Amino acid sequence: MTTLDLALEELVTANRILAREGVVDAFGHVSIRDPGHPDRYVLSRARAPECIEVTDFIVFALDGTPIDAAGRQPYAERHIHGGIYEQRPEVHAVVHNHSPAVIPFGVTGVPLRPLMHMCASIGSVVPVWDSRAVFGDTNLLVTNLPMARDLAGALGDRPVALMRGHGCVVAGPSLRDVVFNSVYLQLNAELQLKAAGLGAITFLTEGEVDAVGRTRSSFTHERAWEYWCRRAGRKYDPRPMSGPLAEGR
Ligand SMILES: [Zn+2]
Repeated sequence: MTTLDLALEELVTANRILAREGVVDAFGHVSIRDPGHPDRYVLSRARAPECIEVTDFIVFALDGTPIDAAGRQPYAERHIHGGIYEQRPEVHAVVHNHSPAVIPFGVTGVPLRPLMHMCASIGSVVPVWDSRAVFGDTNLLVTNLPMARDLAGALGDRPVALMRGHGCVVAGPSLRDVVFNSVYLQLNAELQLKAAGLGAITFLTEGEVDAVGRTRSSFTHERAWEYWCRRAGRKYDPRPMSGPLAEGR
């Protein structure tokens, strides 16, 4: 198998994990930057992540133009991915999801903040992008590049941004990274909602968030990935094929 073949198998696995862990349902998607063409990305045709096979993937230019659609229907919101890859050269994987747990934090002004060590990598500050600020009343879907670029601007150099009344985006250097942060973003949101009902919350300090980032090794991602592969019924491959590590293969 070529590097691209292995990367596409990993992308199938990422879709299945996100579905198994309840981060996506029939909607939501995950992409990788094309390992051989950094000005392109790979994303499934419009299909529920649980159902996705290797044959569903379409390569897109960063402006959202499909290279090899062959009559297949792309996601209307594919521009989210191109807008982020265009702005963030170090990003090799992007997740967009509508996890119900994160929605309350996009619509109330209550910041979502890490309160547990496993969730530190979502970052101390999770910005909220409101499409209405620039684009007025829309159907809330990011269906064009100007909206995607505005969203990418709100994300900035962070790993996570919420989308008011819609969901969130998670960007990072590999599929391991964005799947990890997507699962633990959802868990943090659930825990914060519970904790808020009990009383004032002691969040992780910025120093604690930095310390977790400095001391966490790739072993953490592998341990989680193997576990999630098992739960999703996918073969575990210990070689990450997406992201900078894959470029040297
Ligand atoms: Zn969406």
